Amino acid sequence: MDVFEDLESNVRSYCRTWDTVFARADGSRVYGEDGRGYVDFFSGAGALNYGHNNPLLLRPLLRYLESGAIVHSLDMKTQAKRRFLEAFRDLVLIPRELDYKVMFTGPTGTNAVEAALKLARKVTGRHHVLGFTNAFHGMTLGSLSVTGNSMKRRGAGIPLNNTSSIPYDGYLPPGTDDLIWLRQILADSGSGVDKPAAVIVETVQGEGGLRAARAAWLHDLSEVCRAHGVLLIVDDVQAGCGRTGTFFSFEPAGITPDIVCLSKSISGYGLPLALTLFRPELDLWQPGEHNGTFRGHNPAFVTATAALETYWADTGLQERVAARTAELREGLEEIAGWSDGAQVRGRGLLAGIFYPDTRTAARIARQSFAAGLLVETSGPESEVIKVMPPLTISAEDLATGLDLLAGAATTATR
Ligand code: PMP
Repeated sequence: MDVFEDLESNVRSYCRTWDTVFARADGSRVYGEDGRGYVDFFSGAGALNYGHNNPLLLRPLLRYLESGAIVHSLDMKTQAKRRFLEAFRDLVLIPRELDYKVMFTGPTGTNAVEAALKLARKVTGRHHVLGFTNAFHGMTLGSLSVTGNSMKRRGAGIPLNNTSSIPYDGYLPPGTDDLIWLRQILADSGSGVDKPAAVIVETVQGEGGLRAARAAWLHDLSEVCRAHGVLLIVDDVQAGCGRTGTFFSFEPAGITPDIVCLSKSISGYGLPLALTLFRPELDLWQPGEHNGTFRGHNPAFVTATAALETYWADTGLQERVAARTAELREGLEEIAGWSDGAQVRGRGLLAGIFYPDTRTAARIARQSFAAGLLVETSGPESEVIKVMPPLTISAEDLATGLDLLAGAATTATR
């Protein structure tokens, strides 16, 4: 009897492409209970930027758990939370001259987005929020309402109100029509859309096909929002925490979003943690107005602090990510060159290949698994093969993974 088949809901997904029972993992390698090893070009959908079971994070976690310290604490003050807040201030905010309040919003990315949307509405007194086509922000009703994926939206079973999608054109070459819909809505020239409280954006669409917005487009977006008193929310749940080469993915654009959502790799170890950051003037919350049982996950604070202290106290990680990014790009360009119309997309170690034949990427993902590589697809029709190795992957493991991907692509496109 297969307890997964018999007991688990039909909604399960990853286990269908990767039909094995996973048993252990180490860095950028994962092993099935049958002993088969896989190179991990998936990184827990971006939750494992520092690899699996990273010993530099595991040791402080084990010490903490064995010391009898606090594990669960809602939003009480704890020593682990104090250390995290100090590290976040000293290693993330101050070096980037960012002045944000930190709100612990719950275990998972969608919680950070819900809090961001609610705060934007509360602060502006307006209810409409603009999201972008193909965006992905989460599966609870607020975040789903700004998610541009009709299959997932239909699942809500009710109308998702108070939001509109505008075209995500920031990945296109510069043109005169940049942000035309946003400009029209804000000028209220017959758009029929209420003035929004906020615009929510991913700098790279992680689930929506790896389109990466140009820095200048993000800059324009920020300026247009500011000029009209509309808050800019950057959802950095997937692209943040170093994934694109800088701690926040918006840094190269030189913008300071009003609100930022972080989750996935902020705990560093795959433990659930989500934060919403916002400009101090926006902190209009009343005590207890937005809460949750798992706002204070102290083991996650411990690994998050260790990750910041280990990887963000100097620039060593960023240099390594830049080197791996160049190697990945070169490998992907070569593979893309074998198929007409294939195109490398993404930024940093959030990259992949778009295939015009929408069946190709899924075929490559299946072939990759058979060959010993975990790699996912992305995009509305799963038309993009998505490569997201741990930021800490060695040059050797990256090369091995790229070889496996090249072999799978050759078989799948034959
Ligand atoms: N925002 C973005 C950009 C995401 O990629 C995701 C998850 N893929 C979410 C929000 C939702 O996060 P979670 O699944 O942890 O709720």
